[in-house]
Amino acid sequence: VTNQFHKQNPKSYEYSNQMKTVVPGGLQHNLGSTDPFALVFKKAKSDKIYDIDGNEYVDYLMDGGPIILGHHFEPLDSEVVKVISESGPAVGLTHENELRFAKEIVNNIPGVEMVRFLASGTEADMLAIRIARVYTGKEIIIKIGGNYHGWSDQLLISTNFPGTGASEATGIPSGCYENTIEVNQNDFNGLVQAFEQHKGKIAAVLAEPTGGHAGTFIAHPDWNQTMRDLCDQNGAVLIFDEVVAGFRLSLGGGQAYYGVTPDLTVMGKIISHGYAAAGAVGGKKEVMQYCHPSSVNGNKAFTGGTLSANPVMVTAGFFAMKYIKEYQAIEKAAAYADKLTKALNDLFSTRKDLPFFVYNIQSIMHLETSCYNGISLIDNPASRVAEVTERYLVLKSYDLALMAQGILPLGDRFYCCMQHNDESLQKTLNAWEYVLSLIPVN
Ligand code: PMP
Repeated sequence: VTNQFHKQNPKSYEYSNQMKTVVPGGLQHNLGSTDPFALVFKKAKSDKIYDIDGNEYVDYLMDGGPIILGHHFEPLDSEVVKVISESGPAVGLTHENELRFAKEIVNNIPGVEMVRFLASGTEADMLAIRIARVYTGKEIIIKIGGNYHGWSDQLLISTNFPGTGASEATGIPSGCYENTIEVNQNDFNGLVQAFEQHKGKIAAVLAEPTGGHAGTFIAHPDWNQTMRDLCDQNGAVLIFDEVVAGFRLSLGGGQAYYGVTPDLTVMGKIISHGYAAAGAVGGKKEVMQYCHPSSVNGNKAFTGGTLSANPVMVTAGFFAMKYIKEYQAIEKAAAYADKLTKALNDLFSTRKDLPFFVYNIQSIMHLETSCYNGISLIDNPASRVAEVTERYLVLKSYDLALMAQGILPLGDRFYCCMQHNDESLQKTLNAWEYVLSLIPVN
């Protein structure tokens, strides 16, 4: 497979080698892989990506989540081109599209009465915990194991390896995460105990409503409501990180989908549909009024960001929401994911010797390689770390085989868009059939 991949991608290979001479590790974007070398893309359209060697791929990366209308969606393109040609890029003042975008978010997301735009999900998570601390006057943040909230110093603990309570990066002084404590996903007792142990000191619980890594560590059906109840009982702020869940689960986010409303909502890349670096924090007025430049009795969470709410971001964001609604993108992408999930499970059932299984949460699909029929999916994720780690290793070789067959996955995750169609489905199935044929029957 590696040889075939080399043969198909001579230009990417050459480019990738040059990149390594000027860019550490040869890659800037953490979704891609340099093993054996990075794939270099030339253009994207609809549900397809084309690389510099002319190969076509059915894309399931979808930029790590934000693309749900499909790549290069013409009606959205033209609004963005129009704003650049009329207004130019950022000038440092509010652009007229900012207000209508903010109103659209407020009108659709149940927990959002006010919103502050930023330039990334990482920044938005940083700001959300800061607002929670200023609002409550408390310091400790409960972070749920296996949930990802960007790469800031205080939140980069237990992201991939839940159960450790430790930072997964070097270069972060230990004091930085002194006030971040970990509770594992679905550990109901652990959450109660954390509140008891740190009585009166918990500022917030921060979690992905799908469960960690957009549902890789899937949330128990009672988990979100339990976090809500415990926050209420203890005067803590519940923060949902909707960077991925956002407009994929519903236009009202994971909170509308699961029926649990947080006090603060973190949004990211999806709110500009990938057209500009984007992030936002929204929430109840009572809490958001502590966000800079607003203040209460002199208390405010300082916020910066030269390019926050720039014209491209707010325009892309407003029109993306409009078209997502008009084209029923969420429903169409989810329907495709339902169909592909069923078709893949049917295919995998022809190979009972292999522990493959797929599940989806709306348009986010997950592939398991070490569990049958989803058994134990919502057990304590600490016990799933070994499985998940192994899966990444296993999938590395499958990914290459899939790419050589014209399918672009994101490891164990597949994001669907509204333009995936029956032809894409068949191509995906054919590629998987080929991958299965490479694995000897046990
Ligand atoms: N939160 C979640 C749930 C995410 O998936 C991500 C990025 N994948 C982030 C935060 C960080 O967002 P960004 O990469 O824009 O900093």
